[in-house]
Amino acid sequence: MIKNLEDKITEKIHFGKGDECWPWVGATVGCGYGVVAHKGKMLVAHREAYRLRYGKLASTKKVLRTCKNRLCCNPEHMILGSLAEAHQLQRVKRNDLRRGKWKLSDKQKNRIKERALRGERATWIRRDYPHLSYITVLRLVHDTVNV
Ligand SMILES: [Zn+2]
Repeated sequence: MIKNLEDKITEKIHFGKGDECWPWVGATVGCGYGVVAHKGKMLVAHREAYRLRYGKLASTKKVLRTCKNRLCCNPEHMILGSLAEAHQLQRVKRNDLRRGKWKLSDKQKNRIKERALRGERATWIRRDYPHLSYITVLRLVHDTVNV
């Protein structure tokens, strides 16, 4: 029997808890992305994981990862964007890495960490901090939960 795409994808994802990364454990290509063969095509794993969760995906849209894990297939760690936004996100990640600091007070940071530990998702928490970038909140939640 030929497996459908959803089975092929889900059986190769190591599902984490909560806001953890979900690493792809299937085949990868040279640059480190997960791939899956389906009907004679090579598909990008994280893009397909996003599509499985949210449905149809315009081919012009890029699925951008907000975490630093190239193999991550957690749709919560992905946002849709243009190529320009993809480049911008890369820059933000690089700059954040270099500066190694948050645009948050310690009080805010602790408040977000408490909520993350109670199991709240970054998307919910972010609603109360609209001035912060989603990536900032997501990363804080991510680092708190994955200690
Ligand atoms: Zn991730």
